[in-house]
Amino acid sequence: MSVSTTIPKQPLHDLDEWGDFLEGRYKEGKSEAEFRQYDATATPGVAEFYRLNHENQTVAYVLGKEKEYFGLAKGQKTIWEAAEFLNTLVDDSDPDTDLTQIEHLLQTSEAIRRDGHPRWMVLTGFIHDLGKCLCRYGEPQWGVVGDAFPVGCAWSNDIVFPEYFAKNPDKNVTEYQTKYGIFEPNCGLENAHMSFGHDGYIAKVMEPYLRDEPLYMLRFHSFYPWHRHGAYDYLCNEKDRSMLPWIPKFNQYDLYSKGHTKPNVKELKPYYDDLFAEFLPPTVVW
Ligand code: FE
Ligand code: FE
Repeated sequence: MSVSTTIPKQPLHDLDEWGDFLEGRYKEGKSEAEFRQYDATATPGVAEFYRLNHENQTVAYVLGKEKEYFGLAKGQKTIWEAAEFLNTLVDDSDPDTDLTQIEHLLQTSEAIRRDGHPRWMVLTGFIHDLGKCLCRYGEPQWGVVGDAFPVGCAWSNDIVFPEYFAKNPDKNVTEYQTKYGIFEPNCGLENAHMSFGHDGYIAKVMEPYLRDEPLYMLRFHSFYPWHRHGAYDYLCNEKDRSMLPWIPKFNQYDLYSKGHTKPNVKELKPYYDDLFAEFLPPTVVW
């Protein structure tokens, strides 16, 4: 039996169902009306997943999870070990048509590599979803994936299914419902508290080793309200604005690299061994 189905309240068949939803949602050439309609006709599992996400990602929850995970107390692992650990998140779906987690990572990184991007960006493609190991630590789907957004200030209407925030307890905290909330204007996104998930966690793990561009790609790759819709500019500083263009550059490979041939892990391993060694120590603290 899969890990993901042993935890209660898991409305997604597997984590990739969220990825598939995003891919459909952001299909190129969609009008704003079609875009909204797509959300409304989302599968019930996806809608239920977002309901749980929006109702439970509160300031208190986020601060608690940051305390629990951002101190990096889960031990040392090599990148391959982390990828294997994530790969045990198998689901009940058809293994011939669905990609394993490692295959998603490799399809993303290989597509980046094929297009001639710098090696640090290929690395970013490979590691971008390693934070999904939070599921293996027992975190619910809604606390691992989903569109990211700042907590402690008014929710943007550009967050998918904004109506589900009605039952978030932070709705009753007046300060959290103002434009800036607990933040200063243009405080910088690095100083904001984002809803907790795999993005923030992997960025925290990689913080000592990578420069700003890859760290922004990691930390904000699910912050669709910002990088797709331009929301929350009033929390951004100049650094955020200068980093922003990198995120869609990365995101296209995350969303649209599926459908290429299945990567051959064994064949690719030597290239990635060199790549990891170029930027990272042999083991990383998680
Ligand atoms: Fe991701
Ligand atoms: Fe991904």
